[in-house]
Amino acid sequence: ALGGAPATHADAVGSTGVPLPPSQLDARSISAWFGDHQVLHDVSLQMPAGQVTALIGPSGCGKSTFLRILNRMHELVPSASLAGEVLLDHDDIYDAGHRLVDARKKIGMVFQKPNPFPAMSIYDNVVAGLKLAGIRASRNEKDELVETCLTKAGLWRELKDRLRAPGGGLSGGQQQRLCIARSLAVRPRVLLMDEPCSALDPTSTRVIEETMTELAREVTIVIVTHNMQQAQRVSQQCAFFLASQGQPGHIVEHGDTDAMFSAPIDPRTFDYVNGRF
Ligand code: ADP
Ligand code: MG
Repeated sequence: ALGGAPATHADAVGSTGVPLPPSQLDARSISAWFGDHQVLHDVSLQMPAGQVTALIGPSGCGKSTFLRILNRMHELVPSASLAGEVLLDHDDIYDAGHRLVDARKKIGMVFQKPNPFPAMSIYDNVVAGLKLAGIRASRNEKDELVETCLTKAGLWRELKDRLRAPGGGLSGGQQQRLCIARSLAVRPRVLLMDEPCSALDPTSTRVIEETMTELAREVTIVIVTHNMQQAQRVSQQCAFFLASQGQPGHIVEHGDTDAMFSAPIDPRTFDYVNGRF
């Protein structure tokens, strides 16, 4: 889909079927505002390729805003502004030459509340990922894509005989996995997940965590979570955000997840990861 040529299925999924490598995401000195209210100050974070990075911290400290900046959703809010850079591999997604639609294709997003198109079939929900990105595909390509994406989301076995059933009829956990499958249809290099399990039961949560671990081989994952056990189970790297005493959200501490939980450097991190906030 480079150079404005029509996008095809092969561009998105790779004609040979060989997985594309995951990308590194590098946020540099991000500050963000809604009107004149500053909500993030000088946030820098490298999210290594093929790893899961967890963003933790109390409500209101700017985690969702940061996540939305990573795929250019922040700019959809009319009052929003920002400073800083977001490098996907070595390309700034905010460069003039980098189109919004390209950033969205390369950097997918899954939200807290599962949001499949409820009346649309399971099959069409996955394919909708392509349509949203303006990618054309033949019937055979779509069939293949639906199987691949549902398999990656851990849904193929349980749903392969009911692909024409509406997405809205699935359980909450299945709906969330369907949303993951839909986001994978355009072959993103990064998947952003904003509290993807907060609305789910513990069993569905574990299934999604296993899915994430599998997915991280081919898609770099950034997840916001309030569940400290989950952060430890799924992430290799962790960043602790805080907004305090009128200060905008910033990163207090970041690094290796095990180190951060076993030996945090900042006393505020210690209190937070031990549930004392
Ligand atoms: P978190 O995800 O860590 O709970 P958010 O990124 O949602 O934090 O919010 C950070 C701050 O930005 C909060 O003070 C919130 O009220 C504010 N905020 C978020 N979205 C908007 C918006 N669309 N307009 C104005 N303020 C917003
Ligand atoms: Mg949030």
